Amino acid sequence: MTTAPAPDVVNGVEQVRRLLTPVPGPRSRELAARKESAVARGVATTLPVYVERAGGAVIVDVDGNHLIDLGSGIAVVNVGHAAPAVVHAVQEQVAAFTHTCFMVTPYEGYVAVCERLAELSPGSHPKRAALFNSGAEAVENAVKIARHATGRDAVVVLDHAYHGRTNLTMAMTAKAMPYKSGFGPFAGEVYRVPTSYPFREPAPVTGEEAAARALDAVTTQVGADRVACVVVEPIQGEGGFVVPAPGFLPAVERWCRQHGVLLVADEIQTGFGRTGRVFACEHEGVVPDLMTVAKGVAGGLPLAGVVGRAEVVDAVHPGGLGGTYGGNPVACAAALAAMRTLVEDDLPARARAIEEQMLPRLQAMAQRHPGIGDVRGRGAMLAIELVRPGTIEPDAAQAARISAACHAAGVVTLTAGTYGNVLRFLPPLTIAPRLLDEALDVLESAVAESVA
Ligand code: PMP
Repeated sequence: MTTAPAPDVVNGVEQVRRLLTPVPGPRSRELAARKESAVARGVATTLPVYVERAGGAVIVDVDGNHLIDLGSGIAVVNVGHAAPAVVHAVQEQVAAFTHTCFMVTPYEGYVAVCERLAELSPGSHPKRAALFNSGAEAVENAVKIARHATGRDAVVVLDHAYHGRTNLTMAMTAKAMPYKSGFGPFAGEVYRVPTSYPFREPAPVTGEEAAARALDAVTTQVGADRVACVVVEPIQGEGGFVVPAPGFLPAVERWCRQHGVLLVADEIQTGFGRTGRVFACEHEGVVPDLMTVAKGVAGGLPLAGVVGRAEVVDAVHPGGLGGTYGGNPVACAAALAAMRTLVEDDLPARARAIEEQMLPRLQAMAQRHPGIGDVRGRGAMLAIELVRPGTIEPDAAQAARISAACHAAGVVTLTAGTYGNVLRFLPPLTIAPRLLDEALDVLESAVAESVA
């Protein structure tokens, strides 16, 4: 299949870390000042370096600094920044046509993306798909489809879940600050139940027991016969890379089948090779009825989709799904190139190699620093959770300090977690091992400076 060595230059960007100024540099600071007076305060930035160019696993800012990217624009550029195949496909499509609206005069790219999603997603049953613009929009549409197909209203979601920032998806998202606070009232008929968060259980709980706890809450507080769907992230993303105990997802799947409830897997952050399989559900052989995709699907262009059982998706009447831009032809061209790269270059194998390279080093850091309470994740979706030593009390300040130290040294890191105390790593799957090692050296120093 693959494993050609990562190139030294991608899109004209040398695959190195090189700092010419403090981070952020003077030109970035000027732009940050302009942002203050032009951009809504509600739109915050993690690391205010302004980007001039990006290629592979490196972002070049307007001051000429080369930063190693361990965030991939939040799990989007799994194929690397400006992946040549994606750039080429986009350029060709832009020159041909940029928009007609698939609901007016359709085009092949949309159909081809739906065919590809059906092939790549778990299960060999007949499937249908529909395309949208953002992850939140895909989740909204999965719920629309599930309600229409079942004739039921209730939507079950989990503690620590994140599904987006629109009104329905805010209701489905767990964390108040910053996502929900002050933005209510929220959509109704959304019910939250406990999840499986092994690190935060007071005593060990198996996946089956955690599922029983969640499903008992559904049965007693909602009633299984009122539930249209259970929506799960196979590994919770914004919630802090929470990997449920083995057996949790299969038990939820079994319960859904027994009760005519649809299982919706939100694979928006976990999809397209990120966890070492094409989709994270595959780790436990779970076959969802509906799946939402976005982020990694199109290598950096905005595209999202719902793919699922043909009879479920096709329960919706013609005209019931859609939108002006959903499945934009340029985004579809990018998606076809990104999905081809995913398969041809075996990016899931690259994600597994990243895990093999990163996990031992993260575990060694945890051995040295009791402030690192947990190391977890799968593939190239890994995290450390910061706590007060000897407890599980979250320590968000430590996570923020480490992240800031990484940024200052030219490595883009992200935090996450209900308590803001998780440092998460989402490198492009194409990152060169030596560059990843260098980023880990930086992280190691940042941890040594910042953590108990
Ligand atoms: N679901 C999950 C699991 C996500 O991680 C995200 C984005 N972080 C969303 C939904 C929402 O996607 P978008 O930001 O594209 O609306």
